[in-house]
Amino acid sequence: MKSQLSPDIKNLKRYVLCRNCTKRLVLKPNQKKFSKPNHSNSKCYICKDIFDTLDSILFNIYDKIEAFDFKTFNLGLTLKNSYMERDDNIKSKFKIKGIGNIKYGISHELSKKISKKTKSKKVSESPDIFLQINLKDNSCTVRSKPIFIYGRYNKKIRKLSQKQKSCKICNGIGCHNCDFIGFTNYESIESKISDFLIKKFVAKQVQINWIGGEDQSSLVLGNGRPFFAKIINAQRRKRLAQKDIDLETVYLSELRKLTVQPKGSISFKSEVSITINTKKLISSKILKNLSHLKNAKITSTSEDKKSNTKKIYDVHYKKLGKTRFLLNLLVDGGIPLKSLVQNSDVDPNISKILGNQCTCEKLDFKNIII
Ligand SMILES: [Zn+2]
Ligand SMILES: [Zn+2]
Repeated sequence: MKSQLSPDIKNLKRYVLCRNCTKRLVLKPNQKKFSKPNHSNSKCYICKDIFDTLDSILFNIYDKIEAFDFKTFNLGLTLKNSYMERDDNIKSKFKIKGIGNIKYGISHELSKKISKKTKSKKVSESPDIFLQINLKDNSCTVRSKPIFIYGRYNKKIRKLSQKQKSCKICNGIGCHNCDFIGFTNYESIESKISDFLIKKFVAKQVQINWIGGEDQSSLVLGNGRPFFAKIINAQRRKRLAQKDIDLETVYLSELRKLTVQPKGSISFKSEVSITINTKKLISSKILKNLSHLKNAKITSTSEDKKSNTKKIYDVHYKKLGKTRFLLNLLVDGGIPLKSLVQNSDVDPNISKILGNQCTCEKLDFKNIII
């Protein structure tokens, strides 16, 4: 049979090339066979027989990825430039075009082996894990696709802040004082939720996106405050079997995995219950002025100029004593509630409406509506 190889390609045989490199350089897509190069004693000019070492490199990789739940993967390869240079050299010498380079050849071979061994699939778009394989020092790092969780929390005790406080010494960077986590180890809702999710998914880190916030002295009642959590470098990807979990001072509900990352900010309304003390005596007649708050629009000059209008939807009040009353509001999320009550530049302002200096004794969230 007549050879289909061009004269140039035939001269390739002057170079010592391994089976893999020859196949890559010479084979046309529909060709299945090629003559085996017969320089078996010296190493391949391009790859220095790297393909023979892949199994031992993979041994370490399998060890690393064993801990991860995954059905799909992708990989990136770091290779000494000299491989690429020799590959380019041969290709330009023999005018070989339109074929994958040596890096592609190695990646392809690694992927094939990993796929077979772990019964997983190589995908380029959003793989469960991404392997960065460095053949310069035979190291490998594994990153898993972030997991997004939605849930709500109820806060059952006062004196628990929502967010973790940065370490005062390093300001969140990480130091010996904070065990390189960047946070003080005081309990917070954030630390409670993070610890739970880190354990559950065997993860490195959790980032929480809050739908509003509350003071450490406020309770969160009713359905709870919604939040989104991003779980970074999780080893487990299993479903959340339980929707609710009692973390003692914090109760989580409606927990579920999301398939896509929530984008942008989410608008919400809060039902709040505020116990207010007044400096002077208060009368039921004067309290009636509070009904003007219904449908009032809130402006605050201290906030940045992007004054997206926030509104008070509903107002209920009840006199509790000579200088004390209860105020229930349905308001847009993000209204500075303490400033609404106490003397401030928030307009309208409850202290101004009543002509009486008001202070918040207790401010609890009865419900958050999204
Ligand atoms: Zn080779
Ligand atoms: Zn620190």
